[in-house]
Amino acid sequence: MLIQHLSRRLRELDTQSLRRQRRIAQSPCAPHRQTGAAHAPARPMLSFCSNDYLGLANHPALVDALAEGARRFGAGSGASHLVSGHSLAHEQMEEALAGWLSPHIPGARTLSFATGYLANLALLTALGDGQASIFADKLNHASLIDGALLAKASLQRYPHGRLDLLAGQLAQCRTPIKLIVTDAVFSMDGDLADLPELLALAEAHDAWLVVDDAHGFGVLGEHGGGSLAHFGLRSERLVYMGTLGKAAGLAGAFVAAHPVVIDWLVQAARPYIYTTAAMPAIAHAVCTSLQLIAGPEGDARRARLRRWTAILRAELGALTRETPRLGWRLAASDTPIQPLVVGSNNMALALAASLERQGLWVPAIRPPTVPANTARLRITLSAAHAEEDVRALTSGLALAAGRPS
Ligand SMILES: *Cc1c(COP(=O)(O)O)cnc(C)c1O
Repeated sequence: MLIQHLSRRLRELDTQSLRRQRRIAQSPCAPHRQTGAAHAPARPMLSFCSNDYLGLANHPALVDALAEGARRFGAGSGASHLVSGHSLAHEQMEEALAGWLSPHIPGARTLSFATGYLANLALLTALGDGQASIFADKLNHASLIDGALLAKASLQRYPHGRLDLLAGQLAQCRTPIKLIVTDAVFSMDGDLADLPELLALAEAHDAWLVVDDAHGFGVLGEHGGGSLAHFGLRSERLVYMGTLGKAAGLAGAFVAAHPVVIDWLVQAARPYIYTTAAMPAIAHAVCTSLQLIAGPEGDARRARLRRWTAILRAELGALTRETPRLGWRLAASDTPIQPLVVGSNNMALALAASLERQGLWVPAIRPPTVPANTARLRITLSAAHAEEDVRALTSGLALAAGRPS
């Protein structure tokens, strides 16, 4: 019965062009990548799909730091943080990250997590108890949505960016604790939340602002300080979640907040308590990554990223204007997330397939990750790309659009 039921549901996904497929990468995360089935000859692809914005995922200094961390601290952590898995490497990483965030959250402490998904579940379930209300942007990342659904708090969602409606919801709220929860950079659209205005609302309504900076940390702000640095924000009411698997090139996440918030997470956050601590070698390597991100090399990488973003936007802006019949829309984004919205699932898949035949790897993103009829190519840029890579993509899209370039 179960197998028949699931087989039917899988066929439904097929007919709606919603079936998801994995590709096998046979070489490290980098723009030029060998892909293909395990036992078939690998095929070179030029990829625009990773969140490795600074090109650190395969940086020799991080590979070395991981190896050194493993030699010093071993491979596995052996247990959860509260049992015996919390190592000096984790502690030093948390201290370094607290220093990073303390200009924006006075007196901040941090807590590290094995993944950003877990950090968001932890935050929202531990802070969102029966006394709380959660206010969430409708385009928030799935992990924030799942955390809010799992929390005991009442949940209200506001349409993307509609802070006027959020203000109304806050004014009517009667619970003593209010949590406004938002992506800083929306992961499938690339646009920024209006964090200054959100913080002003939090202050006006005695609420807290939970910011998920998965795509801003290391990318935005001076020296890659992230979205709070980008906007120059400073407040005790901020609860910040940053991830370490995107720009930082490794894996894991952290929460930075008022020390009492951190103390409470350690006591109450089940996704923190009941999981094995991440490998200490990763935490050890994060310290090297932070130095790269904040140093001159990080600045140079962010400058490249901004150049590629400008070139891509200029080229694709022209292409969409010249081919209005296709109905393609380049999202309004200044970040390395540059979605090209094409509409139907079929069209998004066909466009991705057409690029794939040209050796270009760009993922088609479909519902439920994005709203219906807004299927898109989610183009992401990296400092590891070269200018000719970006131009290869724009030529490939021009060819797919039927415009000779
Ligand atoms: C990727 C992502 C996460 C999850 O982080 P992981 O470390 O990959 O689990 C959370 N929030 C947003 C906005 C993300 O893009």
